[in-house]
Amino acid sequence: CFITIEGPDGAGKTSVIQALVPKLSAALQQEVMATREPGGSRIAEKIRELILDPEHTEMDERTEALLYAAGRRQHLVEKVIPALEQGQIVISDRFVDSSLAYQGWARGVGMKEVAAINAFATENMSPDLTLYLDIEAKEGLARIQKGKADRQYDRLDQEELAFHEKVRDAYLLLLKENPERIVAIDASQTLEKVVQECYTVIMKQCN
Ligand code: C5P
Ligand code: MG
Repeated sequence: CFITIEGPDGAGKTSVIQALVPKLSAALQQEVMATREPGGSRIAEKIRELILDPEHTEMDERTEALLYAAGRRQHLVEKVIPALEQGQIVISDRFVDSSLAYQGWARGVGMKEVAAINAFATENMSPDLTLYLDIEAKEGLARIQKGKADRQYDRLDQEELAFHEKVRDAYLLLLKENPERIVAIDASQTLEKVVQECYTVIMKQCN
């Protein structure tokens, strides 16, 4: 089962995944591999650094979209597909939906355009289930600023509230367009509650 976790910055994706992995592997008696996008392999992590370097302010938005797609491809081939072939459950922190929301919509490259390069990069591979951690842009940003979301400063942290609002709008649109794949979870709840809801959905849909 290939599961992706999506959501705006500060939604708590990383913390939720950390708590989910031991719970799921115990319940399902199956190995669970947690991985992250962009990155998750040697080459893909380098691409991540390239994209997120705070000094790379001249990065063109199509270049950014292509780099994400390239990193995604490498990560998929090296990490995700082999794990799925071994029968593991794979949980990825971000996947194609992130590029549709961030590069496609918020950066204005176009969701169709970004979908096209990602169809190429993934050979149309789609997750079995996507958990969308929904949070208002303002609240997500406040969490990051308070240091509640444990993370490193990156180039995207220079973005304004309006950018993050666009990201959330795009996710809500994707949710509407893919009701059979994407399940929304209210990420403004306590971490325990969010983890529990994610767990329930996964147990129901990936069993
Ligand atoms: O949340 P995560 O640590 O995965 O993302 C790192 C940074 O990359 C965040 O600032 C996020 O907004 C940004 N990002 C992006 N486009 C993507 C994926 C992540 O701008 N497709
Ligand atoms: Mg994160």
